[in-house]
Amino acid sequence: MPHALDPDLRRALAERVRYCHEMGIYDFYRRESRVSDSATVAVDVDDPILSSTSQEQREEMAAKKFAAVVQVSDEKLRVLTLHPEQAVADPIAALKLIREDLGDCTRCKLHKQGRKQIVFGVGNPRADLMFVGEGPGADEDAQGEPFVGRAGQLLNNMIKAMGIRREDVYIANVVKCRPPGNRTPERDECETCSPFLMRQIAVIKPKVVVALGAVAAKNLLAMNASMSELRGRFYDFKPAGARSSDPSWQGTKLAVTYHPAFLLRDPRQKGEAWKDLQMVMKYLGLEPPKKSE
Ligand code: URA
Repeated sequence: MPHALDPDLRRALAERVRYCHEMGIYDFYRRESRVSDSATVAVDVDDPILSSTSQEQREEMAAKKFAAVVQVSDEKLRVLTLHPEQAVADPIAALKLIREDLGDCTRCKLHKQGRKQIVFGVGNPRADLMFVGEGPGADEDAQGEPFVGRAGQLLNNMIKAMGIRREDVYIANVVKCRPPGNRTPERDECETCSPFLMRQIAVIKPKVVVALGAVAAKNLLAMNASMSELRGRFYDFKPAGARSSDPSWQGTKLAVTYHPAFLLRDPRQKGEAWKDLQMVMKYLGLEPPKKSE
């Protein structure tokens, strides 16, 4: 049951959360605390206690409707609600907040290795099905949209064969900037960028995520295995950062299939990829289009 915190502690906590947001910090981690009683406390940025904040700051914060829920329990301090989009119900607005948070990103070295632009993601913000690739190539970097080159054409055909349209799904990548020479994104680049992908997935809440290739699969599943080990089954999926007790991820699945660029190099594997997609179609109740469509 929520109960009142000491006003000084409450003010200090609200100040600290506000300060962190201004610094662009939304992630908080569990830390030992000397508080011994159990309490759940809502720290609301609209709290009049923050009246010392300037009008401009208050408006910006109110616009983001940010509320951090702080749970003090069993000598542990835990901040549960951390990102601005989590207080927004509309997925279009929520994705916009994530894009704003990403900004003109310089968090990893890819920003200075020739990227033209950040490739955020495209598609239906309420999609049941989401595809995740590795990272933008030259065409994607030029156009600012994932999967628009040759591999994208094949992905479009795969989507069509499932009886749906590209606009019905959401498409994104593990890294949002083109790795030079289309090299595989490095571990630190994936680790820096994938939290934004996880936040996109958390907003879209697809029923199925399809990982295209080993880079996407390993990053989404936090698992190191070969494609032959990863394919051919569903994984229960919840984006990193989502609470394990959150019931909205019950039934969310992840499937792994070959990357379209790999299928262009080895078309004999298309039949195997089609088996993966048929498993997804069955789960989503999709029928392939009739011949005349
Ligand atoms: N390959 C990917 O992994 N992503 C793209 O967006 C394009 C090609």
